[in-house]
Order: sequence, then C-alpha cells, then structure tokens
Amino acid sequence: MINFTVGPVQSPEEVRKIGAENVPYFRTEEFSEVMKENERLMLEFSGAPEKSRAIFMTCSSTGSMEAIVMNCLNKNDKVLVVNGGSFGERFVQLCEIHSLNYEEIKLNHGTALTRNRLFEYDNKGFTALLVNVDETSTGVLYDVNLLGEFCKKNNMFFVCDCVSSFLADPFSMEKCGANVMITGSQKVMACPPGVSIIVLDPTALKRVEENNVMSMYFNLKSALKDGERGQTPFTPAVGILLQINARLKSIKASGGAKSEIDKVAQQAEDFRRKIKELPFELVSESPANGVTPIHPLNANAYEVFLCLKNEYNIWVCPNGGDMRNTIFRVGHMGDLSFKDNDALIEALRDMQKRGLI
Ligand SMILES: *Cc1c(COP(=O)(O)O)cnc(C)c1O
Repeated sequence: MINFTVGPVQSPEEVRKIGAENVPYFRTEEFSEVMKENERLMLEFSGAPEKSRAIFMTCSSTGSMEAIVMNCLNKNDKVLVVNGGSFGERFVQLCEIHSLNYEEIKLNHGTALTRNRLFEYDNKGFTALLVNVDETSTGVLYDVNLLGEFCKKNNMFFVCDCVSSFLADPFSMEKCGANVMITGSQKVMACPPGVSIIVLDPTALKRVEENNVMSMYFNLKSALKDGERGQTPFTPAVGILLQINARLKSIKASGGAKSEIDKVAQQAEDFRRKIKELPFELVSESPANGVTPIHPLNANAYEVFLCLKNEYNIWVCPNGGDMRNTIFRVGHMGDLSFKDNDALIEALRDMQKRGLI
C-alpha cells in the first residue's frame, strides 16, 4: 500500500523501529529527559516566544482543540471562528458545546479569507480568534500574518490549529503573534496517532492559570506543573512520545523545521505539476503544502478513492460531509517520494484509460 492520506501517514524507519520495541516504564529520570527534549524542540520548531511551554496530550488533536477552548476561553470572551470546512466547523461545535459567545466567518469551501472580509469584524468587541491554519478538508492555507495583524489591532487572543500545517507550511508563533499552536503526532510528525501537542505562549499560560476548568483530564494546569519535571499527570502514550523524540531529533539533525517544510513543499509541487493533464480541478484558492484536494470532473470522488484502494493498493484520502462525492485529497506528508507520486499518477492514467475518471 502507498499511503497518501492526511494521517496516519507513512513513518520513517527511525520511527517504525521504536514501534517494534517494548514500551518502557516512564516515571524515571531517563523518560523525563526525553520529554524535556521534546518540549525544547517543539518550542524551537514552532517559533515560540520566550517563556512559552509545550504540553504533550495523550489524545487526538480534537482533544487539544477542546482543551484549549476549555482552558483558555470563558464566558467573558467574544470568539470569532474562521469556518471554511469541517475543521472550522469543529471549532464552532466546541464553542457551542462549551456555551461560549461566538460568531463564525463562514467561507465557501476552497476560498481564501481576504483582508476585506476579515476586517468586517474589526472593532466589534471580539476577544479571541480560532483558526485552522491549513483547513485540511479543503487544503486552504490562511494568511497567519494577516490574522495576527488583525488580532493584535483588536487585542484578541489568537489560537492556531496547525495540526496539518506544522512542519508543512512556514509558521512562527513569535512572528505572527499566535498565542497557541496545536498539532498532532500523525500528520507531518509522521508518528502513530495518539499524541497531540499544544504550545502556549505566556499570554496563553496566564489564561490557563486564571481559568477554573471543570475537568480532570483536560485541566492543563496539572499538565503544565508536571511538565516542569518532564512528566505527565497520567500515563501518556509512552511509545509514541519516544517515536516523536526520534523524529524531532532527526528533523533537527537535517536542518530543523525549514528543511522539513521544504521537503513537503517539493513533494506537493512535484505532484501538482504531474497531475496537470488529468481531468481534475484543484479546489484550493490558497493551497497549503500538506494536501492537494482534487475535484474529479467526470467521476465520483469517493469512487476514485475506493478504486485506488481496492485495485491499485493506493490510499488517497476521501472527504467527509457534503464534500464526500466531489473532493478527494492527496497528502504530501510523511515518508513519501517523487517515485510514489509517479505510481499514483500512473494508476490514475490507467483509470483514465479504463474510462473510470
Ligand atoms: C487532523 C486535523 C485535526 C485533528 O484531528 P484528530 O482526528 O482529532 O486527530 C484538527 N485540525 C486539523 C486542521 C486537522 O487536519
């Protein structure tokens, strides 16, 4: 199978090797050192400002999105949500569930958020903004510098869900003024699913400190306190945290976040060039590097996914909801090569010959 989904993705060898080992006991000096190194590298790769912290949550990234909504926002906030697809919709649902006062900027699927549209919400008393930097369902990359400028002007708390854009698209918390960055183990990190990482700047840490959260597992105060000595309040996904450590160190050794971002960008560029003569339309106005959403002109997108899986041993990523039949997605994250792109293009050409696309 070649896996072009948007997670879990193919892991490099150094990550897979650890998966074959026994999982060690973790209340030890040795594991604490691994966790402290994980935190240092996450702060470096996310461009976090001085005195920021990183928390490693054993849950999928939706858990961290919810933890942030619970720990950093409250009923005094007026929240603005950028909603351009299924992940934006998820933030809307979280605001709804946690009874927050919110409004959404609802965008048509695939469209970028323009300065004019955003500044309709200028000086309206909003206190926080939630955005999925790469809206993975449509592959739209939002302009974080524009959003950061808007938040700064309006003194708003700025939360970036970078689950699929971290290490795929250039990003620096310090540069764009993000207060929170969320990512997960199974996207560009190319580890198994199960761990999500939250980076909090000093403003976010203050919000966590001041909020009174009615939850045990999702109370970030205890995670931050235990994290000071490289530990977690509850048993974490120890094996995945070791895999994350190997991966972060390998990225560091090959030149840091930028080298990984360049790799994903080149993988995307190669695919987008090769796909040009096929009967497809690319749907994103402002394409992120991690994923290419594709609208087949003569076929049902879900059928294309099924056919590639069942007849060519290739996984592309189907879409959900009302995009299920019109858009499938090709990911560029994880251990993939230009050769893998060639194999996918060849399979699609064969499907075209057979009259299936
Ligand atoms: C994958 C993803 C998530 C998290 O999904 P989980 O299934 O909870 O891991 C959140 N936001 C974005 C933008 C994503 O791509």
